[in-house]
Amino acid sequence: MMNLPPAVLESRDAVPGILGEIIRQSPIGVAVIDHEGIFRSVNPAYCAIYGYREEELVGRSFTLVFPPAQQARILQLHQRFLDEGSELKGEWEVVRRDGARLSILSESVRIPGDDGRGQRLVYVIDTTRSKQIERELRESQRFIQSVLDSLGARVCVLDASGVVVSVNRAWRELASAGEPGFGAEGSRYLEALDAAARTPTPGPGASADFPGLLRDLLAGGREGFQLEHPCQFAAGRRWFVTRASCIPDSTPPRFVVAHDDITSLKLAEEALRESQALLLDMTASVPGALLRMVTQGPDRLRFVYLSAGIETLFGITPSQACADPLALKACVVPEDAPGYDAAVRAAVQAATLWEHEFRIQTPAGTLKWISVKATPKPEPSGGLVWSGMLTDVSEHQQIESVLRASEETYRTLFETVPQGIVYQDTQGRITSANPAAQRILGLTLDQMQGRESIDPRWKTIHEDGSDFPGDQHPAMRTLATGQPVHDVLMGVAVPERGYVWILVNAVPVIKDGQLTAVYASFEDITQRVLLSRELREQASTDFLTGVANRRSFMERLTAEFERIRRYPDSPGCVLALDLDFFKRINDSYGHAAGDAVLAQVAGVMRQMTRRPDVLGRTGGEEFMLLLPDTGIDEAMALAERLRERVERTPMRFEWREIAITVSIGASELRATDPGPETALVRADRALYIAKQEGRNCVRMSG
Ligand code: GH3
Ligand code: MG
Ligand code: MG
Repeated sequence: MMNLPPAVLESRDAVPGILGEIIRQSPIGVAVIDHEGIFRSVNPAYCAIYGYREEELVGRSFTLVFPPAQQARILQLHQRFLDEGSELKGEWEVVRRDGARLSILSESVRIPGDDGRGQRLVYVIDTTRSKQIERELRESQRFIQSVLDSLGARVCVLDASGVVVSVNRAWRELASAGEPGFGAEGSRYLEALDAAARTPTPGPGASADFPGLLRDLLAGGREGFQLEHPCQFAAGRRWFVTRASCIPDSTPPRFVVAHDDITSLKLAEEALRESQALLLDMTASVPGALLRMVTQGPDRLRFVYLSAGIETLFGITPSQACADPLALKACVVPEDAPGYDAAVRAAVQAATLWEHEFRIQTPAGTLKWISVKATPKPEPSGGLVWSGMLTDVSEHQQIESVLRASEETYRTLFETVPQGIVYQDTQGRITSANPAAQRILGLTLDQMQGRESIDPRWKTIHEDGSDFPGDQHPAMRTLATGQPVHDVLMGVAVPERGYVWILVNAVPVIKDGQLTAVYASFEDITQRVLLSRELREQASTDFLTGVANRRSFMERLTAEFERIRRYPDSPGCVLALDLDFFKRINDSYGHAAGDAVLAQVAGVMRQMTRRPDVLGRTGGEEFMLLLPDTGIDEAMALAERLRERVERTPMRFEWREIAITVSIGASELRATDPGPETALVRADRALYIAKQEGRNCVRMSG
């Protein structure tokens, strides 16, 4: 530990030596605060961070840079730090002179004061920008994740033998780049893992336990697993969270494997730990390295001082770097060397701030992004003396590039996915729509923009044909609750296509903790809906007459019987109808004429019954009619009308008329019956009596 006497910073004239001068010029904010909390001295960088002039700070309480509500507590922490040696470091929210909020990272050291009491030497780094980038990244990643989820996109799907069945876009890109451990569709994934494990840069699948766990999963030994593991790539170490699970109820069984790259998070954590350790080490003073450099014209430069931090950054000791003026430059990666030279030359020629970011490769092979900032001061000899510092900004660069990449991936997805995607603002107005959405909804972007879900021009319905009110749309529900809404089936009237059936997901878009928009994605499943509707109908209707078939009639009868059981006072009846001497019709006019008679009689009966009544064809020329909410007297009256109408409506066949009559038996549904068939048996018995008593008549069973 090296204690700096307060005089170092208190007076420019009293600066003893190079280190004091460097600290004054350092881009890191440094201040000395006495026991009462009064600024004794501040360097220009400190003033720049907070937007004050030096004379506006010195002599005033340091708490003025904190929000008023925190000032008393912060002064207490300051005094406890000096009196009791308690901790005082970490990240703070502070306020600039112009009112802007800043995030800063600070580190304090106790130094002796001239009144015998301690003073605090504090180092401050402005972390506002890196915080913002991290926050944007987190939001963007969370959002992409929900987008992929809502599209049903998965990383890789395997069958039980470990063959890759399908992969998502991100996976396919790695597979086509030949990254070890990422097999394309049809490849054998377990073998790819084994092979990757033998390469010098095994992919994320090849961690120690992963293949074993995966084999266990495929064999049914577990339902899923998750593991976090580091992985050595050619370009450095990366961290992954790997998740694998069996897709529930899949036949044949299917498994999902997903690798998430969490390197940027890890790097940010590591960098924070590293920079804290550096701050604690007072010999290194600050994260990065302090420098002093002398230039005589643009091409002659030498370092006269480099702090110990240079070894951490470049892997070169301060004395090596000072002895060989080209030692540091030799680390700059070849592509960045011309830019580096140009930046040095421009700064030297203009004698202004030298500020530049470039990549280096250390002797040990690590790639880093380095930021340099140094300010010049003319020397009597005609050259310039530069003071400044070098810092490692790799994590910012990496986070920024991951952010850029994820935005790019998303933009491509938006343009190319077959699913429709629309964004709606917090008022529910559409702000953008991808090409698929325009195609599915049959509207141009112009027609959609600004339209709300509650706009009466949307004609939307539920599957049962009832109205789908605009305020119930998934996007509106997400706006109201802030929660995602999944898999809502909606029929939308589309110009020239009739109703299009879409399956909709809505996801909230959160920025800075605020709901700022809704992202809705949907698939056109019209074909599927129409097909299943047709199948359902086919399965329940009689092909010849279009009335209910026996199975579906029995279902409706059972439901009605259950209802009567629950409400024994509500009435219900069934009629059994059988055409008279139908065999003769077939025999005299042929089977086709018989069929036509059946269709005609069914049509007549359908016309004469109400909507809730159910007419079923239960045998060759036998029908049943279920009459909910109908007493036996009403049922008998209806039966009589039916009988009469059938008799009065002969079938026209070529030049002749075929006379048709029907016999009918009626019965009540009774709550006391053991089952729904009992009423049918009674109706059949009454029908038998009607046949016995001369046909073309109606009888009931008592
Ligand atoms: P009744 O009921 O008055 O005693 O005499 P019926 O001639 O109608 O006698 P039954 O009910 O025994 O005969 C029914 C006939 O209906 C037998 C069969 O040839 C005919 N049939 C059954 N299904 C069909 C069909 O789908 N189409 C045609 N054309 N005829 C059918
Ligand atoms: Mg008959
Ligand atoms: Mg019959």
